[in-house]
Amino acid sequence: MDCLFCKIVAGEIPAEIVHTTERTVAFRDLNAQAPTHVLIVPKDHYANAAELAAGDPVASAELVTTAAAVATAEGYDDYRLVFNTGAGAGQSVFHTHLHLLAGRPFGWPPG
Ligand code: C5P
Repeated sequence: MDCLFCKIVAGEIPAEIVHTTERTVAFRDLNAQAPTHVLIVPKDHYANAAELAAGDPVASAELVTTAAAVATAEGYDDYRLVFNTGAGAGQSVFHTHLHLLAGRPFGWPPG
C-alpha cells in the first residue's frame, strides 16, 4: 500500500518523531499550524478515526493519551485535538492521525 504515514512509521520517510508507544508514533507536522503541531498515528493502517476505533479501540485510546503526554511534555495544559475525516472535512492523508495543536489561542467554531 502506498501510504505516506505507513512509510513514516516504518522509517522509510524521515520525520521528527517526538514520542512512540506500543501502538502509536507521534511526529511534528511539516506544515505546523501552531507552535506545537504534532500528528499521532497508529502504527497499523486504518483510514480514519472511526475505522480505528472500531478495529482497535486500545490504539484509538492510545492516540489520545499519547497526545496528552506530548502536550504535557511541551508545557501545555490547553490544547486542541482534531481528527479530520473525509476530504470535505480537510483530510488529505488517509491513515488515521490525531492533530495535537498547542501554543496559541484557538477560535471557535474552527474554520
Ligand atoms: O488532516 P489532514 O489529512 O489534512 O492532515 C495531514 C497532515 O499531514 C497535514 O497537516 C500535513 O501538513 C501533514 N503532513 C506532514 N508530513 C508529510 C505530509 C503531510 O506532516 N510528509
